Amino acid sequence: MRITGYKSHGVAAAAALVNAVTSTGGDDSADALRRILRDNEFFWRQFRDGDADDFRAWGRTLRPFFEAASVEDAMALLNGLLLQVPMHPHLADHEPHGLHMHYAPPSSRLPDRFRATTLMNLAELIVEHGLTRTGVCAADGCDRVYADTSRAGRRRFCSESCANRTNVAAFRARRRT
Ligand SMILES: [Zn+2]
Repeated sequence: MRITGYKSHGVAAAAALVNAVTSTGGDDSADALRRILRDNEFFWRQFRDGDADDFRAWGRTLRPFFEAASVEDAMALLNGLLLQVPMHPHLADHEPHGLHMHYAPPSSRLPDRFRATTLMNLAELIVEHGLTRTGVCAADGCDRVYADTSRAGRRRFCSESCANRTNVAAFRARRRT
């Protein structure tokens, strides 16, 4: 499986949505949601402000996936959602991605397409990597989630700033002792 690129663009989008909707200080305004779609190569131009509530609900729905304590819990959650979200996998070939899979029925609204793609990409991710690529930020006091789509896959923080803050604190603690 290719970890980076279009095939897994739903993974990063899911993490960004969960953070926007559920983390402290997250911005789940319609403009912020539109930006998440644009940054992750979804059809952001089709986003209507009236879609925002559907996206917010989906962000809350996906949060437990990132908090799952075991692969079994994550599987149960995803399997439940795979029964609820309308699926109709088909091939599509359009710019800028070339030939690739679409998962929602062809005439679906954007929120349904987003649900189907993020769900399938998260399912593919745990098939390949279990829960080693997703989680809640390891920094003290941070409730943001992360999804690691890098090749190395050693990420434990939501951002560089949380990683640096934690490393500096650990360094100071070591120096004191
Ligand atoms: Zn963090």
